[in-house]
Amino acid sequence: MITAEDMVRAALQAASAPGADVPIGAVVFAPDGSILAQACNAREALGDPTAHAEVLALRAAAAKYGDGWRLDGCTLAVTLEPCTMCAGALVLARISRLVFGAWEPKTGAVGSLWDVVRDRRLNHRPEVQGGVLEDECAELLERFFRTQR
Ligand SMILES: [Zn+2]
Repeated sequence: MITAEDMVRAALQAASAPGADVPIGAVVFAPDGSILAQACNAREALGDPTAHAEVLALRAAAAKYGDGWRLDGCTLAVTLEPCTMCAGALVLARISRLVFGAWEPKTGAVGSLWDVVRDRRLNHRPEVQGGVLEDECAELLERFFRTQR
C-alpha cells in the first residue's frame, strides 16, 4: 500500500519540475493509489495568480477521474501546507484525504493561520496529515529562496 511518505515524495518530484517558479508540488492520487495528476506551482509561467500546484493538480485530476468534478476517495499530496484558496478548492473538490509536507506559518490554511478544511460548519471535511517529510519539503523551498537572493 502507498504510504503518506510515498505520496509526499511524489509531490516533491512534481515540485522539482524545471522552471524558475517557487518549487511547490501537488499530486492527486486515485482511491487505488495510482496517480491521477501532478503539477508544480506555475504562477510565473502562466501569469496566473491562481496557478498554485494544488489548483492545477485538482483541475487535471477532475478532468481525468470518472465522477464529474468530484474527487471522492482521492488523496491530495502537497509539499507545503495549502493556502486559503487551495484549502477551499480541495474541500470543494471533495478530496477525502490531504497529506502535506512543510508547515507554512505565514499563510497556511490547514492549521497554521486558519483551518479551512476542518471547519465544523462545513459538511465535507477531509482527513488531514501534515508534517510528512517536513524537513525535505522545507529544504527544497529554502534552497530555492537562497538562490534567488
Ligand atoms: Zn495555494
